[in-house]
Amino acid sequence: MVIAIDGPAGAGKSTVARAVAAELGITYLDSGAMYRCVALAAVEAGADLDDGEALTALAAGLDIELDGRRVLLGERDVSTAIREPRVTAAASRVSVHPGVREAMVARQRQLIAAADYVAEGRDIGTVVSPDSPLKVFLTASDEERARRRAAETGDDFAFVLDAQRRRDARDTEREHGALRPAEDAVELDTTGLGLEEVVGRVVALAKDRGLA
Ligand code: C5P
Repeated sequence: MVIAIDGPAGAGKSTVARAVAAELGITYLDSGAMYRCVALAAVEAGADLDDGEALTALAAGLDIELDGRRVLLGERDVSTAIREPRVTAAASRVSVHPGVREAMVARQRQLIAAADYVAEGRDIGTVVSPDSPLKVFLTASDEERARRRAAETGDDFAFVLDAQRRRDARDTEREHGALRPAEDAVELDTTGLGLEEVVGRVVALAKDRGLA
């Protein structure tokens, strides 16, 4: 069983998904961390981020392990390295390539077939797990999302807002696995809501549907 939490950057998906998973006693899957691993490997290899064929081969050969806390690329703990701004920007570029997405979606499906998950990303409800019994699409205003991210990283608000808009545009406009709510998703605008309230609403939805 998969509870799908999708939405744009900075909508609070990771924090909410993690908290809901903890409350329900199930595993948390951060699908964005996988695309970030592809981006990190590509940046470090000096790969052309527009070369879909080369990036597909690179993605297919990566050994990515997530244990809900750390992200491992082979033997290496890359939990911090994948959050660097240049990797963040590269992640939304490598993830437009269909072959990269295919490799990551296959790995995600392998994981969710083996256990119950709260999985978060952009295409969990639409592509990775379209049969999910609960799909939540989290949003918040552009400004609020950038404010949250800037407070978290200490970066300048205007810089964060600009980078976020570019990333949202790439995520929304790409042909495969585009960011959009599934038809049966519950849309939750978190602007002005506290974390506890959002988590409470998602947990209540899970209980209503007999998932907890
Ligand atoms: O969620 P996060 O910000 O860590 O994701 C980084 C990037 O990975 C996103 O901007 C998006 O381009 C890509 N991504 C994706 N599909 C997912 C999760 C993330 O394309 N399911």
